[in-house]
Amino acid sequence: MPTPTVEKLLILQDRDQKRLAHESLLRAIPRDIAAIEQKIAGEQTALEAARGELQQLELKKKALENEIGAAAEQMGRYRSQQLQVRKNDEYQALGVEIEHAQSAIGALEEQELEVMYAIDEARRKLAAAGEELKHNVSGHEARIRLLRERETGLQSEFQSVQALVAAAREGIDESVQRLYERLAVKPGLPVVVAIRDGKCDGCHLKISSNVESESRKADKVVTCDQCGRIVYWES
Ligand SMILES: [Zn+2]
Repeated sequence: MPTPTVEKLLILQDRDQKRLAHESLLRAIPRDIAAIEQKIAGEQTALEAARGELQQLELKKKALENEIGAAAEQMGRYRSQQLQVRKNDEYQALGVEIEHAQSAIGALEEQELEVMYAIDEARRKLAAAGEELKHNVSGHEARIRLLRERETGLQSEFQSVQALVAAAREGIDESVQRLYERLAVKPGLPVVVAIRDGKCDGCHLKISSNVESESRKADKVVTCDQCGRIVYWES
C-alpha cells in the first residue's frame, strides 16, 4: 500500500498534471494566434507585391506613350521641314529620318501592346489574389476569435485548477512538497511512481536494495537512485 504521504502526493500529482497541461494549452494559444497573424501578413504582402507589379506596368505603359508621342512629334517636324527644303539630297535625308522615326514608333507600339496585355493579366491576378485574401482572412480571423474564446475559458478554469492543487498540497510536509516541485515540471511525466518487480516505474531501472528497504518503511518518502523520482510500493 502506498504510505499516507504518497497517497497525498498521488492526488497532488494528478491535479498538478492537469494544471501543467492547462498551462501548456494556455501558453500555446498566443503562439498559435501569432502564427495565424503571420500568415495574414504574408498573404497581404503577396497582394501588395501583385499591386506593385501592376503599378510598374502602368508606369512602363505611360513611359512608352511618352516616347511614342515624342517620336511622333519629331516625325511631324521632319515632315514640315521636308516641305520647306529645296535641295533634293536634303529632302531625301529627311525622308530617311522619317522612315527611322516611323519604324521606331512601330517598335514602341508593339512594346506598348505587350505591356497592355501584361497589364490585363496583372489586373486579373490582383483581383484573384484580393478575393483569395478576403476569403482566407475571414477564415483566419474566425480561428483567432475561437482561440481567444478558448483562452478566456481556460483562464477562468485555471483558478479552480490552481485551487485544487493548493488543496492537495495541504498536509504534505514542506520538504516533501519542495522535492515534488523540483521534479514535477512537465505535463505527462509522472514523478511519483510505483516500484514494479524491483524496478522504478519512471526510468524502468532496478532500484538499489537500500532504496527498496527504505521505501518499505512507514511513511517514508524515498527517491529512485537512478532518476530521482519519488518511488513507492503499490502492495
Ligand atoms: Zn527511476
